[in-house]
Amino acid sequence: MATIHNLGFPRIGKQRELKTTVEQFWANKISIDELTERSAKLQHTLLSLQNQSGLDWIPVGDFSLYDHVLDTSFLLGNIPPRFLTDIEQRQDQYFRVARGRCRQAAPAQAGEMTKWFDTNYHYIVPEFSANTRFSLHPETLLEQIRTAKSAGIPFKPVLLGPLSYLWLGKSHHFNKLELLEQLIPIYSQLFGRLEAAGADWIQLDEPILALDLDKHWQQAFRQTYTALGYGRLKILLTTYFGPLQENLDVIRDLPVHGLHFDAIRAGTETDIIIDTLDTSQVVSVGIIDGRNIWQADLNGLLDRVEPLYQHLGERLWLAPSCSLLHIPLTLESETHLNPELKSWLAFAQQKLESLHTIKQALTRGRSAVETDLAENRHAIKSRGLSTEVNNKAVKEKLETITPGLLQRNSPYSERAKQQKTGLKLPLFPTTTIGSFPQTPDIRKARKRYRDGNSSLAEYHLELENQIRIAIAEQQACGLDVLVHGEVERNDMVEYFGELLTGFALTEHGWVQSYGSRCVKPPIIYGDVSRPNAMTVSWSRYAQSLTDKPVKGILTGPVTMLQWSFVRDDQPRDITTQQIALALREEVNALESAGIPIIQVDEPALREGLPLRKRERNEYLNWAVNCFKLCTSGVNDATQIHTHMCYSKFNDIMESIAALDADVITIETSRSNMKLLDAFDAFSYPNEIGPGVYDIHSPNTPNSADIVKLIGKAAQKIPPERLWINPDCGLKTRSWEEVRPALQNMIHAAQILRAEHTRRGV
Ligand code: GLN
Ligand code: ZN
Repeated sequence: MATIHNLGFPRIGKQRELKTTVEQFWANKISIDELTERSAKLQHTLLSLQNQSGLDWIPVGDFSLYDHVLDTSFLLGNIPPRFLTDIEQRQDQYFRVARGRCRQAAPAQAGEMTKWFDTNYHYIVPEFSANTRFSLHPETLLEQIRTAKSAGIPFKPVLLGPLSYLWLGKSHHFNKLELLEQLIPIYSQLFGRLEAAGADWIQLDEPILALDLDKHWQQAFRQTYTALGYGRLKILLTTYFGPLQENLDVIRDLPVHGLHFDAIRAGTETDIIIDTLDTSQVVSVGIIDGRNIWQADLNGLLDRVEPLYQHLGERLWLAPSCSLLHIPLTLESETHLNPELKSWLAFAQQKLESLHTIKQALTRGRSAVETDLAENRHAIKSRGLSTEVNNKAVKEKLETITPGLLQRNSPYSERAKQQKTGLKLPLFPTTTIGSFPQTPDIRKARKRYRDGNSSLAEYHLELENQIRIAIAEQQACGLDVLVHGEVERNDMVEYFGELLTGFALTEHGWVQSYGSRCVKPPIIYGDVSRPNAMTVSWSRYAQSLTDKPVKGILTGPVTMLQWSFVRDDQPRDITTQQIALALREEVNALESAGIPIIQVDEPALREGLPLRKRERNEYLNWAVNCFKLCTSGVNDATQIHTHMCYSKFNDIMESIAALDADVITIETSRSNMKLLDAFDAFSYPNEIGPGVYDIHSPNTPNSADIVKLIGKAAQKIPPERLWINPDCGLKTRSWEEVRPALQNMIHAAQILRAEHTRRGV
């Protein structure tokens, strides 16, 4: 019989129970006991939900109160020394590492957070040094196993493997691989405990096998698994997110009982992987896409899987390609989706059901599940033929893209002259990134309108009122380039998703981003077009209130793509081009409405970078071209800005420059302008506003610090090309915090201007 199993499941719950529970705990509204009790209950529900799909193995250890990498650090006793104070409760200590504080515990600098491979999930970065000592603390994991056992669940512990754990951590001038010798015995010890707890298999996740590994890391795999392998606990070595390529050699002759690979992203390696493995090893094929929300073509899949089953028999295991953490829990909660579109979708629960159908078809014949297969065939066909998906006019418009559409009329130096005359900005112009505080008033007005308790006209009046407040505040503190405040947007992607064709929004499609933070990515299901203007009336209204230039703000095409679930029936670059064309119309319309500056945000540009270096140039090429397609339709005198934040930018500086935006505002204050080191080797040609204060902190930045930061920046960029602005949008702050911060920022600009004039004289 073919075995079906799951690698990981969304943990936030149908009603985001995890979020509510931990947030109540943080706010001291519930006790540790209640936290434990409620989370065990949630875990039980999630396990039962998976069990309904007849899985042979269900993961335990994937559930986490905050982050599974942080759990691994606690499991292995690797807690950074600054947190080792006399905290009694383990949970308090855990959240203190995650968030820098918890309940009564004294604040400390939180563990750094960064993106999990190419997903939008953030993990807490483990910290390593020569002093790191590991020790085993399996209580939480064993407790989860008890929960599973008591519910009669066929469980399989899942753990981050030792090499990926080390790789994902940070260390200062220290070779992390030196820690292996210490780490391996801890894993061995743990295996003994898991076996004693009744585990048969363990899933060891080593996603770094999809990355470029040097020979030291490759050899470390052999060393590690030779020490760990072929014990009584059977190891399923698990890779996902990409092909193995040269790491195929790494898995050859490894003493593990099985290997899981991602057959969605590494499907072409199926045969070679099977050939590489031993005839006694299990081959787990990740055939259901764990990164996307589309219903799989089950009939097509069976055509691929049936011969594998014939060849491998019991050795064949089937699973989603990766953990289902990255997609929403269940479609059942969606009541407003268009039924046809809904029939094309599968969230985590539905993905497991598909797996079950495949198993039935393999073991009992396709006829045993004919109804399911017919329904699936129908859904796949209707998606392929739908006029909602395929829009001829959009396709034709793409054909008209010529290289000329990707270029501004004149080079930056020429444009800058015209913009200087037109905009009349002082040296070191000051601006913000777009959003202003989303006040309770704005939220209330939005809710009233959404609940049907106010009319569209009333809602719009309220938004205008809020824009008036934002403009007045900005004028009062003396900013040079104003914004309307993005009051109409609940979210920078969702807002545009609601107005463009080809996008659908869910009601409960939440996906964990970090800790208790969840996002609801739109679904791009069809060709994208812009039936109506989306932001023009708001920007125009704002501009009518002031003589200062108002900057229009849009979310860029690459970010729209990155932060949505995307089509799997056409290449990503084509989808992005469509979005870019639609946004180009908006950019041009803003210009026609008299908006002199337009900012196109691309905070997710870096995030889309492929995991393998050799694929990066191709991505950067089309990503840059899509930005240019979106922004090149304006006159020289119109100033194009872009904005980026919270990524490493140094290694893609050339592509950032290739965007040819007149101005880029970019987050740097957290790293104390480290970004600017990139300009030693590469001189940035256009204007730049390195963020001068961290908007995530409630602290007020002082003018002297800002002057110092800009002083540093001025060593690399001539003052004539420097702007002064915060790191990112201010929507999460209050006006009480924003006001003094901006005043100090503007005061800093005045000091800098005075200094500059003095020196010039
Ligand atoms: N314009 C957006 C804002 O100000 C940018 C947000 C972002 O970079 N994530 O909120
Ligand atoms: Zn930002």
